[in-house]
Amino acid sequence: MNKISVKTPIVEIDGDEMTRIMWQMVKEKLLFPYLDMQLEYYDLHISKRDETDDQVTKDAAEAIKKYKVGVKCATITPNEDRVEEYKLKKQWKSPNGTIRAILDGTVFRGPILVKNVKPTVKCWTKPIVIGRHAYGDVYKNAELAVPGPGKAELLFTPAGGGEPQRITIQDFDGPGILQGIHNLDASIRSFAKACFTYAYDQKIDLWFSTKDTISKTYDARFREIFADEYKANWETKFTEAGITYFFTLIDDAVARVVKGDGGYLWACKNYDGDVMSDMVASAFGSLAMMTSVLVSPHGYFEYEAAHGTVQKHYYKHLKGEKTSTNSMALIFAWSGCLKKRGELDDTPELVSFANRLEEAAVETIEAGIMTGDMARIAEPKPEKPVGTEEFIDAIALRLQEKLS
Ligand code: NAP
Ligand code: MG
Repeated sequence: MNKISVKTPIVEIDGDEMTRIMWQMVKEKLLFPYLDMQLEYYDLHISKRDETDDQVTKDAAEAIKKYKVGVKCATITPNEDRVEEYKLKKQWKSPNGTIRAILDGTVFRGPILVKNVKPTVKCWTKPIVIGRHAYGDVYKNAELAVPGPGKAELLFTPAGGGEPQRITIQDFDGPGILQGIHNLDASIRSFAKACFTYAYDQKIDLWFSTKDTISKTYDARFREIFADEYKANWETKFTEAGITYFFTLIDDAVARVVKGDGGYLWACKNYDGDVMSDMVASAFGSLAMMTSVLVSPHGYFEYEAAHGTVQKHYYKHLKGEKTSTNSMALIFAWSGCLKKRGELDDTPELVSFANRLEEAAVETIEAGIMTGDMARIAEPKPEKPVGTEEFIDAIALRLQEKLS
């Protein structure tokens, strides 16, 4: 069979532990036999980041800027234990944080659905994708404990001189607590752009929710910026594509989400997205079935699995014990990246390959061949879960049948 040629190099970002092991298998068994592709390879193994003083992470992000599309394996974000374990020079920052800062993106997370795992919320028949704003609010706050009676004020001093603005937050008559948060028009706008881009790309509705009835300046600013961006750049495109932009109060959104059938992007402020993405992920079944893509307002895309490096399974693997780790989200990171590459390069045969790959993976689970995490929640339950490599082999077999 002729291999499909991928016209533009793909930025491949390798990672750590169990996901690194599966990454290699996915490439060798599911991709290399069918694709003729040039990989622009960046090794973000924790020791490589240490060796290069984390330069390799920045280089990887720059490569995505150059080629527009990348795919990333999970990586260790070092804590004290990891510094000890790998004898690191220091606790390097989260690679995802570094890459996101360079690409200025928003992360979208969506579940992979299979027929034999039912979401906890029975009416959810289509994926709910969460887009979380990843700047500011309570994650970049200033807070203090108020020891006793006194006056708390918000004070803004203009950089160029001029009259400061000052309002009273509270006249304390006893001890309490105090918090200051902020956001930036530029960051909210970039978040809005990324959300409209993603929804349009996927041809799904976009929901956005804030608490603007209570927070008439702060949350209302989010609503205004989204509305402006929609009017200016998306209204016509959305109408043509038959999709809608829907703004509502966060509490109304939550009530509708649990009553609806899914099938939209839910854009959330930073804290709402933090909380709701865990709720949605858990209700859909397994972290190993959650995909993640970083969409930059400048048109860069980075695909990955939402889960980490599955450290516990890796230690078992190192001891020579059999593992049953689920590679679905990693496979979908690759298929997502290949589809996007195919769209940008106008190579429909590549898009079609990526779709076949996803089908082969989903059908494998639906045929009862699955890893331990899925075996626990599937109905009917399989006789026994398969091992890490066996699962990928089963997908490879199905893929081969589909393509021949
Ligand atoms: P994790 O790797 O997501 O795994 C947590 C647990 O979830 C696992 O122990 C396993 O549960 C289950 N799980 C996750 N993915 C699975 C899969 N593909 N197949 C089967 N089960 C799966 O989180 P972690 O162990 O807390 O973190 C490990 C490392 O990952 C950390 O160093 C962290 O910094 C890093 N991390 C990286 C990213 C990223 O690069 N995007 C994201 C998060 C965390 P059982 O043990 O019960 O089987
Ligand atoms: Mg969370």
